[in-house]
Order: sequence, then C-alpha cells, then structure tokens
Amino acid sequence: MPLSKKQFGVLSNGEDVSLYLLESGEFKASWCDYGASWLSFIMPDKHGVKDDVLLGFSTFPPYAAKHPYFGATVGRVANRIAGSKFILDGKEYKLFANDGKNHLHGGRQGLGRSLWHGEMDVIDGDPALRFSLFSADGEEGYPGNLSIAVTIILSRNGELSISYEAESDRRTPLNLTNHAYFNLLGEGAGTIANHELRLHCSHYLPVDSSLIPLPGKPADVAGTAFDFRKPKLMGSDIGQGFSGYDHCFVIDALDVREPFAIVSEKTRGRQLSVSTTSPAVQFYTGNFLDGIIGKGGSVYGKHSGFCLETQYYPDSPNRPDFQSCLVEPGKKWHHGTKYEFSIL
Ligand code: BGC
Repeated sequence: MPLSKKQFGVLSNGEDVSLYLLESGEFKASWCDYGASWLSFIMPDKHGVKDDVLLGFSTFPPYAAKHPYFGATVGRVANRIAGSKFILDGKEYKLFANDGKNHLHGGRQGLGRSLWHGEMDVIDGDPALRFSLFSADGEEGYPGNLSIAVTIILSRNGELSISYEAESDRRTPLNLTNHAYFNLLGEGAGTIANHELRLHCSHYLPVDSSLIPLPGKPADVAGTAFDFRKPKLMGSDIGQGFSGYDHCFVIDALDVREPFAIVSEKTRGRQLSVSTTSPAVQFYTGNFLDGIIGKGGSVYGKHSGFCLETQYYPDSPNRPDFQSCLVEPGKKWHHGTKYEFSIL
C-alpha cells in the first residue's frame, strides 16, 4: 500500500490525530495532521541500510507538548517579528510574545500546533497528501480570514515536494515553512558537523542578540563563516565563540527548479538537494537542542540536526525594505519547496 492512514493520538478535546504513511520506490515518509507535521523520512544509505533522517518522536504525546517545532508547518508568520507587533494599512496589530519580547513561528499555538484536515490522494501516480486549515480573522492577533492548503507529494526517485497555497479576505502577512530537522547519518546518530553544505547564497542577514535582522542591507558572505558558495562542512566555523548558524540567507536568483542547497554526508552516502520559490532560507544548526529525548530514546543534543527553512526574511512585516510577504485579498498566495533525497 503506497498510502495509508492510522490513528496516532487523541487531543485533550477528544479529537483524533492521524498519521499518514507515504511509500514510493525505496523511500517512506510519514506525516501527521497535528501541525501538518513531517514526522519521518526513511531512506537507504550507499550500502542499502535504511535509516530515518528526520528528528522527532515515535509517539504523539510529545508532539502535543512544547517541542522545538520538529517537522511542523509553522506560521502564520514563521521566524521572528520584532516587539511582537506590526503596522499594516495604518493599524497596529499586537501578537503573542513567545521568544523574549519577540513573536516566533506564529505565537502561542500557531499553525504548527493546530489540527489540520488531512486527505490522501494520488497525483501523477505518486502518493500525495493535502492538509487544509481555516484560520479566522484575529487568530493569534493576525488580520484576515485565511484558508491554507499544504500539498505533499513523494515521488519514486526520492523527491518530496511541499506546496503551500493560501487565500485571505484581507491583506495579511504570511510566511509558511516546514521546520524539519535533518541528519543524513540517521536521527540520533551524532551531530551534523561533518555534513557538507553548498548554498547558492551570496548574502545573509546579520542579526542582533535576539536574532532580529539589523537595519541595513543584507551582508556579503565573502570572507565570513557564512560563505557556503563552495561546499564546506557545516561544523568548519562552529566553535571559538560561534555557537552555530541560526541565520537567514538570501537565495541568489536561480531557476526555481535548481537546488539552492546541496547537503551531502559522505560516510553513509546520502544527499539532500533543496529547491524553492521562496526568496530566503533560515539555516539553523539546532543550536538550542539540549538533550531532548526523541525517537526510540535517541538523545538530541546541540547540532543533532539541521533545518533549511525556506521563507521570507524574518521581521518582514516591520521592514518595508524587505520583500513583502502580504497575501492580497482575491489573489492566491503560493510557494513551494522540494527536498530531493539521493544516494551517492
Ligand atoms: C529559529 C531558532 C529556534 C528554532 C526552534 C528556528 O527557526 O531560528 O532560533 O530556536 O526555530 O524554535
């Protein structure tokens, strides 16, 4: 069966949470309707040994508790909004501060801790899922009645594509991403320090101590720890006072089908290439993972996984100099990201 559904848990209000399994070729992915969350990705290595390359939990209860957004679809506005407020069309909107004074990944509950409606499908012969959600005007402080749909397709050559679509009856900011943490050694098998990364990104956004972009233009990566234009180990520049990456990189103008990121891990022979329609990516090396217990008792310490969160620039609603992330009424908002897993 390339596509199946089973019960994963029950919410405190009695609603059922479902787990969806997609199988295609040698690849298996699982997702859950709580948070439209990507739970696992199982693939072979160069010797044919299969591992799950996503961090997460084996059971539902820890997903319902506070956790580092493992695999969640985060929003309405992913990443940070400075001071937990923004002004739109002359009106100030106040948001929930859940990261010091700032608003992070949609606030108190956000889309990543909401129950979505899930449907299974087959698209061009590949197993697919569609999660949809209605977010009412004023939810988490954001304006506009917003309808969102996330479509996931797994192809037999190891490509998992995620398409995001949204419509609103009022202008409203929207920045959707998936917060999967990857480790190509297999989850729980060590740090990502020896993963090699190539990023088609010539600029990044320097940030203040609360990770809000500083005023001014994106900075050139040349001559800094942020230069991944030639393949470099993720851990090369970590240490000596630099605790790791948690920064937004601007994606160079590319054909959207061309990967902006290629990650490879040579000992197990696995590669992940990512392409997107989004203008930027938050490259995060799991700096705040502090020994949380994951799948099968795995312990996820600092740098146990990396995220490539495709998105608009952080704090866009307060930065007229950044590309606008607004949904306009009557217009479909659309973005997509593809994760292509391969064996070297
Ligand atoms: C943020 C990190 C944060 C992590 C988990 C990332 O997108 O940039 O600072 O710790 O999400 O919340």
